[in-house]
Amino acid sequence: MSTLRSVTIYCSSSRSLDPHFSVAARAAGELLARHNITLVYGGGGLGLMGEAARACKAAGGRVEGIITRKFLNLEQGWDGCDELVVVDTMRERKRLLIERADAFLVLPGGMGTFEEFFETLVGRQIGDHDKPIAVLDDHGYYLPLQSLIEHAIRERFVRSAVREIVQFGTELEPLLEWLQVHAHTPVHADPERFLPMGPKG
Ligand code: AMP
Repeated sequence: MSTLRSVTIYCSSSRSLDPHFSVAARAAGELLARHNITLVYGGGGLGLMGEAARACKAAGGRVEGIITRKFLNLEQGWDGCDELVVVDTMRERKRLLIERADAFLVLPGGMGTFEEFFETLVGRQIGDHDKPIAVLDDHGYYLPLQSLIEHAIRERFVRSAVREIVQFGTELEPLLEWLQVHAHTPVHADPERFLPMGPKG
């Protein structure tokens, strides 16, 4: 029995992707459904967002979407959601996406996904929340992101403790297990370990 009740998924809204990216997005939706974990996401029907949400629902899972009024049309707000929350601003959308999650799963995406990932990671670093973040490196898509973070650690712009709060992986199931373990054993109580201005290290 899973101890996670909800996972927020961040991923692409693009309609122009290589279809191979859809496979993992659907698998992610199905995996959450199988574990009885609510899928929370941006509420759209397009791209990997739509793929993950439809697959979760088709597998008997629960889906909650958070979308802005403006994006309801643009991203084809998905009426298959068990709950579709329509908010006024992107800020409110992101706040609810973080608030409603027990953990986060990042799938391939563009600027919106990057922003959501970094905002959630920074929130974790400064101790605004204590929820774990996993990144699915599907088809090598996130190797450059992982390299960027490692580069920043090597150059001492980022503390190596960041590796404890974000997990990269190429397989969904181990990532979900990592989220399950870390949702209930937060790795730190001291944001200073994570902040660049902390003690020299
Ligand atoms: P993308 O990765 O660019 O395809 O975007 C993925 C999702 O992030 C889409 O639902 C976008 O609407 C959403 N998004 C883009 N920018 C923002 C933002 N500033 N705040 C919240 N969500 C955003």
